[in-house]
Amino acid sequence: MKAETEIKENPYLCYQCAKCSAGCPVAEKMEILPHQIMHYLSIGMEDRVLKANTIWMCAGCFTCSVRCPNDIDITSVMDDLRKKSIQQGISCPVPDVLTFHNAFIKAFAGRGRVHELRMMTEFNLRTGNPFHNIKLAPKMLLKKRLHVLPPKSLKGFKSWMKKIWKH
Ligand code: SF4
Ligand code: SF4
Repeated sequence: MKAETEIKENPYLCYQCAKCSAGCPVAEKMEILPHQIMHYLSIGMEDRVLKANTIWMCAGCFTCSVRCPNDIDITSVMDDLRKKSIQQGISCPVPDVLTFHNAFIKAFAGRGRVHELRMMTEFNLRTGNPFHNIKLAPKMLLKKRLHVLPPKSLKGFKSWMKKIWKH
């Protein structure tokens, strides 16, 4: 059985300056702000953060990691917390985000590149809203932002993935 993900960053290095939260573009949608996540982790309240919507609202933009004066990679903390939450079977407070996440991973894992049309179709079907954003499709196709055919696989991607999954 695969070992549970560990949080690789050290929460005790955080001195609660809140620069991470001040720069986060989705902070207003989060139940617990990024600097509060670090605080909860430092006092052993991981259970609380694993249930918060914060880890699912995080867009992985790295702004917090870049702004942190202590070089704490908060983006990777969010990643690790998401993995832990899935491993522990905690129900996701924003199920559509998890559905999108799974559709993206599935689309990416096959080729190393995402076929957006297929990914969005899968997302729409799984969320029971098959025509969501359908009006945008013709415009995006015309501007070559959406492609009917899937992209070519990245060379060596599958063997690289096999190596990654071993660890
Ligand atoms: S990586 Fe996540 S937590 Fe950090 S600034 Fe971006 S959205 Fe906010
Ligand atoms: S920016 Fe860094 S040191 Fe400041 S609160 Fe966020 S994690 Fe802690």
